[in-house]
Amino acid sequence: MILIIKNGADARQYEKLTEWIEELGLKIHLSKGESTTVMGLVGDTSRVDTDVLRSLDIVKDILRVSEPYKKVNRKFRPDDTVIEVAGQRIGGGNFTLIAGPCSVESEKQIIEVAEAVKKAGAHFLRGGAFKPRTSPYSFQGLGADGLKLLIKAKAATGLAVVTEIMDSSQLDLFADVDIIQVGARNMQNFELLKKLGAQAKPVLLKRGFAATIEEWLMSAEYVMSGGNENVILCERGIRTFEPYTRNTLDLSAIPLVKELTHLPVIVDPSHASGLARLVEPMSLASAAAGADGLIIEVHNDPARALCDGAQSITPDKLAALVKKLDVVLGVTDKRRGL
Ligand code: PEP
Ligand code: MN
Repeated sequence: MILIIKNGADARQYEKLTEWIEELGLKIHLSKGESTTVMGLVGDTSRVDTDVLRSLDIVKDILRVSEPYKKVNRKFRPDDTVIEVAGQRIGGGNFTLIAGPCSVESEKQIIEVAEAVKKAGAHFLRGGAFKPRTSPYSFQGLGADGLKLLIKAKAATGLAVVTEIMDSSQLDLFADVDIIQVGARNMQNFELLKKLGAQAKPVLLKRGFAATIEEWLMSAEYVMSGGNENVILCERGIRTFEPYTRNTLDLSAIPLVKELTHLPVIVDPSHASGLARLVEPMSLASAAAGADGLIIEVHNDPARALCDGAQSITPDKLAALVKKLDVVLGVTDKRRGL
């Protein structure tokens, strides 16, 4: 349930209303936007007497929210969420570029790629240390050592870092990580989501490859309901009947999810297509569809990459892509942050 608050309501009126709502065992999510102030009520709202609410001076209107996701819902927060992290702003008109290898492989590799993607215009460096591989015989990532190398690359370049967590027991190792990624395979690992909701670092939540938009948003609700409101959604392709691409990029999810939620939505064209040559067209299409950013796999020597070489582009290709990206962004309401 949502209460639209009248302009000019004073602190005492807020206090009285808050007390009344909390007595009913409900939680309040207050969003003071530029033009509207919205009070979202979370919990069992069936006991709320809407006639009493309507009679209060402070309440302008009452809306029932039928969707199961509340805090994530744009009805709860009409303005875009802007996530401020490491001097960058994600969402709300800023277009964010995250780039780097699928996996951290060595100190030389990650520092070279970090320097190159920074030069090409990336705002964040990505690189997996804990890798969720389909086969137990594939390269599993360098683990804690990989995280240390990623942090070295951060120190060397000043680029903030994004990396995947696979289990909450790894959380202590993530102290110097700027954004924690939850991979597609863990989108419904609810215990992990609860733990990430109880800490403050922003969470980049990938869509599961067989997840509906509603399931994806409910996973974001897990993090937000735990108290962490800094969630970035990432569309990374879903599984369809089409084998020519690794997944199928659900482009229509971008404008739709931006309508349904206030959270930033970024796109991973690398895992969505699985093919390096499709990364540029899918990136441009995502920007045109209203994405708030991209996360792209970049490797100095894709043919020798230990993971996902076929979908990794070179730093030169990234630089060329960024030039075209700015042209596409020119016809949208977003600009690449500097
Ligand atoms: C990744 O980003 O390297 C990754 C494993 O992605 P996803 O979870 O989308 O498959
Ligand atoms: Mn990968």
